Amino acid sequence: MSRSKTKCAACKKSIPDHEPDVMLRRLDGELRRYYHTRCSGAALDLVTDAPEVWVMTVRHIEEVAN
Ligand SMILES: [Zn+2]
Repeated sequence: MSRSKTKCAACKKSIPDHEPDVMLRRLDGELRRYYHTRCSGAALDLVTDAPEVWVMTVRHIEEVAN
């Protein structure tokens, strides 16, 4: 079991570490869901349905300019 593989809750495919993703965290529990940015529509639906339950965080990958 690898913890480094994050699966998208919408399309069930893994989200590579180098890709930015959208994280949903439930306020009433430890549950977390991750989405591709391209799948964030599904995440938005959840948040829109229950905005007081889910906290949405968009994780950006910082580019190292060099
Ligand atoms: Zn996805």
